[in-house]
Amino acid sequence: MEKMRAMVLSECAKVETNPLKLTTIDRHEIKRPNEILLKIEACGVCHSQLHGIEGDWQDIGIPPSLPTVPGHEVVGKIIEIGTAVTKFKVGDMAGITPLLEACQKCPYCLDGKEYLCESSIITGESFKGGYAEFITVHENFATLVPHTMKAEYAAPLFCAGITAYKAVKAAEPKQHKKIGIFGIGGVGHMAVQFAKVENCDVIAFSRTQNHLDVAKRLGADDAIKFLENQEEFLDILKEKHGLLDAAIVFAPADIVTDTAIKSVKKGGLIVIATVGENPSFLAFEEKTIRGTLIGSTADMEQVIKICNEKNIEVITQTFPLENANDALKKLKNSEIEARAVLIP
Ligand SMILES: [Zn+2]
Ligand SMILES: [Zn+2]
Repeated sequence: MEKMRAMVLSECAKVETNPLKLTTIDRHEIKRPNEILLKIEACGVCHSQLHGIEGDWQDIGIPPSLPTVPGHEVVGKIIEIGTAVTKFKVGDMAGITPLLEACQKCPYCLDGKEYLCESSIITGESFKGGYAEFITVHENFATLVPHTMKAEYAAPLFCAGITAYKAVKAAEPKQHKKIGIFGIGGVGHMAVQFAKVENCDVIAFSRTQNHLDVAKRLGADDAIKFLENQEEFLDILKEKHGLLDAAIVFAPADIVTDTAIKSVKKGGLIVIATVGENPSFLAFEEKTIRGTLIGSTADMEQVIKICNEKNIEVITQTFPLENANDALKKLKNSEIEARAVLIP
């Protein structure tokens, strides 16, 4: 059996203790006729991995078993294809989202919402994750990446990018719709750009000046510092722009969600793309709260197309695969401008 290097998590622990260990494990091999084998060229470091690795989400079954190899924003070169593969050929570049596979026959899958499938397999929650040198995937859950895209650019599109795209779509964008984006990190900085592609008026909110500057540079019409003092924050927003038509929340903090709901005018829409408690909600204001989760393979193809055509900027910082613990520590300490990417 061929071998590969991987950053293996055997026990959940704080990232300061370097819980990921560089280990030589069996290389994945094509086992079914519809699978492709990727030699991984880049894998993004998602904020959700911090929680998974540190054990914050063990009570909701993440990771489902140990040991595991994290990583779910994977781009690589196809080096082998199964006998029934029709979508790809050897030499193509392809990427994988957190949705490694779904059943392809339940009502969600048949409706094109395979990411809601009850029997899905999540990339990086089993032994198949992107913090490694190779991975296999069913061809229906991989997306072609043009050779003009660098792997470290494309990798973050496969979770951060598709999350940002789907959240903007969920906000029902149209010309001059006033959309507020709460949280400008790895996901939010792309959402600003997707909303500008739709000609929305975009206002970015963040606690850090650095992220506000990034949002402005990427086309946000305004960028306002998020304040814990909700009344003061809302007064500033109302004075400068009035209430929003829609808000998108990427920052996983209940105060942010609560403030986002209050920032939207009556009848408006709030899209929540993160986890958190249900905030207080007044039915008589006729607001709509909508959740969103990654997206389908068809959505992913749209993300690649838009990013290619519109030159969407993806801010990355690369690390060698074996430095995954350092990347996670930097992410935890807010020292990553947007997205850390591991290069095997
Ligand atoms: Zn992710
Ligand atoms: Zn299904």
